[in-house]
Amino acid sequence: MPSFVITEKCDGCKAQDKTACQYICPHDLMTLNRETMKAYNQEPEQCWECFNCVKICPQQAIEVRGYSDFVPLGSSTIPLRGTDSIMWTIRFRNGILKRFKFPIRTTVEGSVEPYAGKPEPDFATLKQPGLFTGAARKE
Ligand code: SF4
Ligand code: SF4
Repeated sequence: MPSFVITEKCDGCKAQDKTACQYICPHDLMTLNRETMKAYNQEPEQCWECFNCVKICPQQAIEVRGYSDFVPLGSSTIPLRGTDSIMWTIRFRNGILKRFKFPIRTTVEGSVEPYAGKPEPDFATLKQPGLFTGAARKE
């Protein structure tokens, strides 16, 4: 079942040009009502239930309701992202609450230098096949 916005929690990403949920949705489904400053899923039947919008929302304002055959109605699944881990809070239909914390990275945030040790780009080889670090480039 598709994502939905808990409007009481949504702050419209404080009126940024693009909201976090708009930015992350791979199917371009999330949109912002500029009058109410609340986001919503504009085409729920197209939702992949990928949880990207759920994980990125800074207000924990989005949920995806699981199918009732394996996730009973009345339960909820809410993530809270940190810089090095994500905490999932699962509320079961009978009120039991469980939390699961998982690491999401092995390096300090912002410390990765993807081009460190790589050659400078050579625009003369732009139309050659292969990656710029690959053997085909060096021939
Ligand atoms: S990311 Fe969350 S707070 Fe921001 S607009 Fe979307 S639902 Fe609202
Ligand atoms: S769950 Fe995935 S596909 Fe569905 S609205 Fe959120 S980001 Fe888009």
